[in-house]
Amino acid sequence: MFEKRFNLEVIAPQQVMYEGEVTTVRAPGVVAPFAVLAGHTPFLSLLEVGEIILRDPSPSTPLPEVEGSKPQYMAISGGILEVLRTGVTILVETAEWADEIDVSRAQSAKERAQQRLARQTPEIDVQRAEAALARALNRLRVAQHAGGFG
Ligand code: ATP
Repeated sequence: MFEKRFNLEVIAPQQVMYEGEVTTVRAPGVVAPFAVLAGHTPFLSLLEVGEIILRDPSPSTPLPEVEGSKPQYMAISGGILEVLRTGVTILVETAEWADEIDVSRAQSAKERAQQRLARQTPEIDVQRAEAALARALNRLRVAQHAGGFG
């Protein structure tokens, strides 16, 4: 079945991560993850730490309407998504495509945060350590989609 397309922009502080047509985008809404398809009613949602999954129309596929396209995964650490009649804009605090994630860096960040949380001395900022742990765990999860295994 032919899937309708819409325009998506994903913008991080230092760079435009994606700009182009997609058939769906999934995002980690603060209430719950959700998907947007073409023609969705305009709305605004805050995003939490999680993954953005988009499907582009895959022009390299001979029959995109039959084959569909591979999902592309991006780790984000929160942001805001706006659906307008003209398309969808996502502003994110940080973002990495699955292939770009430095797994050993995320692993170190995870261990650092876990050690801080285990110590729980007065000078440890628990909320900050929990947020760092959530970002690291998210990156490790999203990195599993690197290498084209969708
Ligand atoms: P770290 O302690 O390793 O810096 P962090 O969660 O504190 O992790 P952030 O403040 O969320 O890092 O991100 C800072 C910048 O570094 C952002 O541009 C983000 O995209 C990038 N970044 C953070 N961790 C990774 C990673 N594991 N792989 C690739 N880029 C990363």
